Amino acid sequence: MEDRADLLRQIPAVHELAEALRQKFPKAPERLITAAARNATDTLRREILEGKRKELSREEALSRAESFLAEKLRPNLRRVINATGVVVHTNLGRSLLPQEAVEAVKEIATRYSNLEFDLKTGKRGSRYVHVEEILLELTGAEAALVVNNNAAAVLLTLNTLAAGKEVIVSRGELVEIGGSFRIPDVMARSGAILREVGATNRTHLRDYEAAINENTALLMKVHKSNYAIVGFTKEVSGKELVELGRRYGLTVVEDLGSGCFVDFSRYGLPKEPTVQEVLATGVDVVTFSGDKLLGGPQAGLILGRKELVAAIRKNPLNRAVRIDKMTLAALEAVLALYRDETEAISKIPTLAMITKKPEEIKKEALRLKRRLKRALPQDVTLQVVETISRVGGGALPLASPRSYAVALKSTRLSAAALEEALRRASPPVIARIEEDTLLLDLRTVLPVEHPEIVAALTKIFNEAGGDCSYPVDH
Ligand SMILES: *Cc1c(COP(=O)(O)O)cnc(C)c1O
Repeated sequence: MEDRADLLRQIPAVHELAEALRQKFPKAPERLITAAARNATDTLRREILEGKRKELSREEALSRAESFLAEKLRPNLRRVINATGVVVHTNLGRSLLPQEAVEAVKEIATRYSNLEFDLKTGKRGSRYVHVEEILLELTGAEAALVVNNNAAAVLLTLNTLAAGKEVIVSRGELVEIGGSFRIPDVMARSGAILREVGATNRTHLRDYEAAINENTALLMKVHKSNYAIVGFTKEVSGKELVELGRRYGLTVVEDLGSGCFVDFSRYGLPKEPTVQEVLATGVDVVTFSGDKLLGGPQAGLILGRKELVAAIRKNPLNRAVRIDKMTLAALEAVLALYRDETEAISKIPTLAMITKKPEEIKKEALRLKRRLKRALPQDVTLQVVETISRVGGGALPLASPRSYAVALKSTRLSAAALEEALRRASPPVIARIEEDTLLLDLRTVLPVEHPEIVAALTKIFNEAGGDCSYPVDH
């Protein structure tokens, strides 16, 4: 008890810590300075009372207050290093924009633009024309509209074309994607009535046909983005649905989820129908995301028949889900890259990462391993191991691209402790644990991030204490 009372007396006063912080961060708001100083003294007091702390220096107290303040001052939304190997990682921001798109955003965001101004006539123009032409050129669609995201695209399409009427969907396609987007729920909110047909694993064309009645508005196909039904299965193709739709005068809509313009089967991945192919089957309206396989900004793209897209554009709900100018600028720049597939593959980060060759990744893994070996204490075991990446983002669910990772093991830190410490690094490094080993999958790590990973791990092991014998060679 005596010791604790002594230790407690050594905690600097709040005003003293605050003064030190003021010296060091002259621009920080007073409110945050006092909060950080108070936070530091409170935690130190708690640690002492809980017996977790046996000594305390003034420097330690100050450094604690400084980290509290630094944390308050830095933005909440921060970049991280994605070492998970999941390319379109929904929780980590999905797609990275190519430089071309970033430049376009910067220019349009910091200057006035012809967003809704027709430069030829000097009259009010439409924000939707800027990307329509290039979308038609790339896909062969009759008309195009872009909105905030694909969830909005689906909602708007259903609300326009089927409010108060029935939409026939296969039971095998009633998907839920991350963030609680469920087709049945979106359908309900759109005012359309869901008419489920078939069984989970098998739906036949006759199931759709039997459900058609005078109140049917649409036949809908939903892409099974994040799962696959395997085994005894039967799925009706978009083409068959189109034929059925034509016979009964019904519109066919397909929610492609992560639509793509590039045939990934040419790069050794499973076949996903491209937007062009789906439109060619005669589907009347397709919707898909801008930031999944397309590799652009968050957006929802609606392509299809002229009169249908026109009706969707006129829906008053469109104003509530409209696309903003920065997104438009980024999207136009990304779409322009698709005019040349080789350029698209090399410049759009999502495509570059998905198609990256395992041998290339292995080279980068070996390079990172060498750098880590030089920097880390000897009790850390480093190995380059073969692993499987994921495309992610509800795209290509069956794809398992071969990849390479640097595997780390240490006698001082468990894989879980390492994973957490890396998450708290600056910038945070998000890694994966497999069989009690920490893996850094190099498919999604940019070469410029290697030194940052080395720095983060060096700091972690320096602070971990305990037995650390540094290598003497190199
Ligand atoms: C991802 C996805 C959506 C939602 O798209 P967001 O762009 O995330 O709004 C809708 N439908 C399917 C099938 C999807 O895969």
